[in-house]
Amino acid sequence: MSRADRVAARLGARELDALLVTDAVNIRYLTGFTGSNAIAVVGPATRRFLTDSRYVERARAELDGFDVEPAPAELREALAEGWPPGALRLGFEDQHVSVRSHGRLRATLPERIELVAGGGIVEAERAVKEPGEIAAIAAAAALVDEIYEWVAERGLVGRTERAVARALEQEMRERGAEGPSFSSIVAAAENGALPHATTREVPIPPDTLVTLDIGARLDGYCSDCTRTWATGALDDDLAALYDKVLEAQEAALAAVRPGLEGREVDAVARAIIAAAGHADHFGHGLGHGVGLDVHEAPRLARTATGRLEIGNVVTVEPGIYVPGRGGARIEDLVVVREGGHELLSSSPKAHRVVA
Ligand code: ZN
Ligand code: ZN
Repeated sequence: MSRADRVAARLGARELDALLVTDAVNIRYLTGFTGSNAIAVVGPATRRFLTDSRYVERARAELDGFDVEPAPAELREALAEGWPPGALRLGFEDQHVSVRSHGRLRATLPERIELVAGGGIVEAERAVKEPGEIAAIAAAAALVDEIYEWVAERGLVGRTERAVARALEQEMRERGAEGPSFSSIVAAAENGALPHATTREVPIPPDTLVTLDIGARLDGYCSDCTRTWATGALDDDLAALYDKVLEAQEAALAAVRPGLEGREVDAVARAIIAAAGHADHFGHGLGHGVGLDVHEAPRLARTATGRLEIGNVVTVEPGIYVPGRGGARIEDLVVVREGGHELLSSSPKAHRVVA
């Protein structure tokens, strides 16, 4: 079955006759089309693909199984026509469609077509990766493993966080990445106490912790990996904090297998961190899916009730952040396999000094 076939097979459970796909990443996933202006409609017997004159020829050449229709630049206008007769329940991607776009869609579609919230359907299919997708993510992860070694050889102390980030992103491109999959984070000392730290034009000091959160985009697929290194001798509290994060990360990683709820994996790490007195210092979820987007389904978090499935690719990234003092996070990327998981990131995690 093609990806579009599998999405079409999911529509019955949501009582939808077809799905209007407008999100560019979902369109790329379903059709392979990488242009900037397209709408797809997928149903058991429907494969419409609308794009403007710039892309029609390319789409006809590239797309398998879709009927490519030339449309005005304002693609939506073509949705006034081309529907089968009778009433129709048409899902739309409500998490991506603005209230204004929804109003315009409603005004364009024939009245017999009911617009129904249908978000998350393509995302659910994307969450289960095909072998080729896993290979692409693994290659993006391997590239970041190499970047970590490259950074370690060059050292950290005295360089600014931004200089380190800029240099490693440049090196990533030299090695074939389209670019970083998100803005690289390099956060030392008290800046590392912010889970979503902004990289600063501030020199990295000796004898502290530095968190590096890096991802590459390669052939459209993302990777995501975090390491926290020491820039010299650590005070006991920071050394203990790192050891605790590592213990929590390895325990949660060991728990990853099909059938477990996202919140159950999250709880493994959270219990270890809470028992060490840091319950209030781990405010984010344990992990997230990675694929064409760096953050996608499924989630590993306190409220995540979805169960892990074979083929999910997720991060496992607990952290401890002590305000004003410092923080540590360790993040690996894994694919869920029968009975367990396979690690895609392999940069060493034992306490490491990079001065
Ligand atoms: Zn990350
Ligand atoms: Zn992440």
